[in-house]
Amino acid sequence: MYTYRDILLYFPKYISLLSTKEYNLSDKEKIVFYGRLLTRPTLLSRSSIFFDFITDKKNVFRIISYNSYLKNILFLNKKYILTGTFYSYKKIVNLKKIFLFDEEKIKKPFPLYSLTSGLSQEYFRKIIAYVFSTKKIKNIIPDFFQKKYKLSNKSEILKKAHFPNNNNDILLVERYLKYEECLIFSVKNALSKFLLSKNNHKNIKKVISFLEIEKFVKKIGFFLTNSQQKAVKEILSDMNKNKIMLRLLQGDVGSGKTLVSIIALYGNFLRGEQGCLMAPTDALAQQHYETLKKIFKNTKIKIGLLVGKMTNKQKMTIKNDIFNKKIDILIGTHAVFSKIIEYNSLGLIVIDEQQRFGVDQRNQLIHKGNSADILLMSATPIPRTLALTIYGDIDITILKEFPFKEKKVITKIIKSNDDIIDRLIEKSIANKKQIYIIAPAIDSQNKDNVLDLFNKFLVKYPKKVTFLHGKMNYNDKVKSLKNFLSNKVPIMISTSIIEVGIDVPTANLMIIYDAINFGLSSLHQLRGRIGRNGEESFCLLVCDDENSKNERLKILENTNDGFLIAREDLRLRGSGELLGYKQSGLPEFRFVNIIDDEKIFEVSKKDAAFIINHIDMFKNEPILRIKK
Ligand code: ADP
Ligand code: MG
Repeated sequence: MYTYRDILLYFPKYISLLSTKEYNLSDKEKIVFYGRLLTRPTLLSRSSIFFDFITDKKNVFRIISYNSYLKNILFLNKKYILTGTFYSYKKIVNLKKIFLFDEEKIKKPFPLYSLTSGLSQEYFRKIIAYVFSTKKIKNIIPDFFQKKYKLSNKSEILKKAHFPNNNNDILLVERYLKYEECLIFSVKNALSKFLLSKNNHKNIKKVISFLEIEKFVKKIGFFLTNSQQKAVKEILSDMNKNKIMLRLLQGDVGSGKTLVSIIALYGNFLRGEQGCLMAPTDALAQQHYETLKKIFKNTKIKIGLLVGKMTNKQKMTIKNDIFNKKIDILIGTHAVFSKIIEYNSLGLIVIDEQQRFGVDQRNQLIHKGNSADILLMSATPIPRTLALTIYGDIDITILKEFPFKEKKVITKIIKSNDDIIDRLIEKSIANKKQIYIIAPAIDSQNKDNVLDLFNKFLVKYPKKVTFLHGKMNYNDKVKSLKNFLSNKVPIMISTSIIEVGIDVPTANLMIIYDAINFGLSSLHQLRGRIGRNGEESFCLLVCDDENSKNERLKILENTNDGFLIAREDLRLRGSGELLGYKQSGLPEFRFVNIIDDEKIFEVSKKDAAFIINHIDMFKNEPILRIKK
């Protein structure tokens, strides 16, 4: 946390002590109990203690704590509230926090912050109270709408969030923050469109010929799906208009967005202009670079790659080549828009996985005032009507079909000692196919981690294993990825860094360790990496817990529909986490989610339109100046 704002926006989880669960606890379930100590704390080892605890509902649990000094400050028969994790195989609770019971706390929703060790709940609450006493908090929602919807002031809302008096307070907080978030987003969206409409003229040097495009597609040997054909037509006719294009191309993982953008970039080359393709990670940029090099190998198109971690010398060469038009298409991370890069004649900007860039950067591009067409691509799996509600100020094309009629990825939940792992690995290798092995961590902070798994599999499959994670240096990443892409090395062990966009058509097996550690939408994205050429493929979800939250993973066994998965994920996570949704399927959002909040999107979109249409009335409002 760097600022007061960070502190005030650090929300707790709320625990209602009146509805704590004590039955049918699954392994590793987080619990909150209140009740009394039934036995005195006793040393279990030098650094751990245990005691028995009887809950208000008269259930007895054995509690273990690694905080042995608690021995001296917990008292028999005194009432406490405690939180912890339940372990089913030993029938114990691993203590996390313990507080003296307080009658008032029972009635109110109880805020619990996730804090680092050494920082207590009480102390953090004091910090928050201090910030409230010194800082004035301004509304971002314009007065006009504050009044219209009878909203409290933002400062009241934030106070309720940190010191709620009842459950209704939390509902008010939620409603406020969701609306505020949606309104900011909708205003930004409407603003892009507005900025473009004021100054959206572009001079077309040359109309792109559909015939030439068809010839090109034939030459590279692809038959476009109907969806792709339609998308190409829409995009090219946008490009042929003398208005700047702002179009979102949406399609689930594997629907073939890249190819559509490549065709657009080719069209852009035909009209004599430079194009750029921006990806969210080095790895994805690198891969796009390889793909485009291959596809354009028999053309005159010159392709450049620019990523953050290149040497200054390399960057200067790129910069000069771009300026002198020795490069036709530049591929890279956000570096392709760094200040040093000056295009000779930029005609088309493609932004892959746009949800990772956010609307701010997008508006910056538009602000820069170049007259390039903009194509955004996103894999967020939402239905058309919803997409229109959310992004309605942008033109949308959706790829409904997959290049292969049916994606045959078979998903199975397995145990880590299941011999199916080696059977399938051996089969894949024998068939010259590739394999992903995914772990939730890089090193020992988790039992299943990239480096340990790398060592383990290297013993079984010498020279056949490589690895990738975010903390490697750039050259090592490129080397590892290249070895895997070219199938020199068939097994890639990686964090979820490969979740976004990586395309190895012949990969037909993915093994995800400690799968429960990932969100369902992430798992869906991950398995989107295999079976890309339509061949039968396997995704093994490793989960050693017996009766645990397998229900979540089963959804993946049963369906391949990204939207359905996002929806189920939200439903199963339920409440209690309402202010902390991370994976709503729309990574730009913190509070709203695509499932429950369509109405809020609708309202905020209308309100945003009202603001833009009455810009004079709102011109001094902070909402028009928000940057994330
Ligand atoms: P995404 O939409 O997730 O970005 P990609 O563009 O990476 O998907 O495409 C997935 C895979 O399908 C790639 O290997 C790509 O070459 C292949 N592909 C795309 N379109 C077609 C097509 N019309 N015919 C055959 N293969 C295709
Ligand atoms: Mg992609």
